Amino acid sequence: ATQPYDDANIFAKILAGDIPSTKVYEDEWAYAFEDINPQAEIHTLVIPKGKYVSWDDFSEHAAPDEIAGFVRAVGKVARDKGLVEPGYRLLANVGAHGGQEVAHFHVHIFGGQPLGPMIA
Ligand code: 5GP
Repeated sequence: ATQPYDDANIFAKILAGDIPSTKVYEDEWAYAFEDINPQAEIHTLVIPKGKYVSWDDFSEHAAPDEIAGFVRAVGKVARDKGLVEPGYRLLANVGAHGGQEVAHFHVHIFGGQPLGPMIA
């Protein structure tokens, strides 16, 4: 079972425009913005506009067009930032063991530097 979506989570407030964010990209399906505490030279977050708690929730419950739109948006953000040729990293933390802090599904994009084997 997936935990219920909490409309008071910080990314919901960012989506609603109630909390400011540095917007990178937006379309029908997704919103991308800069992480407030970057862990790499480039650290951008991409979130679906739908109310999904985590990757687990999104992968099970999102409609195919939502999934496709979101995946396309992640790829576009990385491409638009020039990350494809040097390379980059995607990360989605899930739940307590994954270290997920914000309960609105998000993908981290890291880049702009060699990242080494892993970011813990
Ligand atoms: P998680 O650990 O849930 O995968 O990652 C949450 C990320 O959201 C962290 O990298 C954190 O720096 C970022 N974050 C938390 N609060 C805010 C905020 O208010 N604005 C922005 N732009 N990023 C945030």
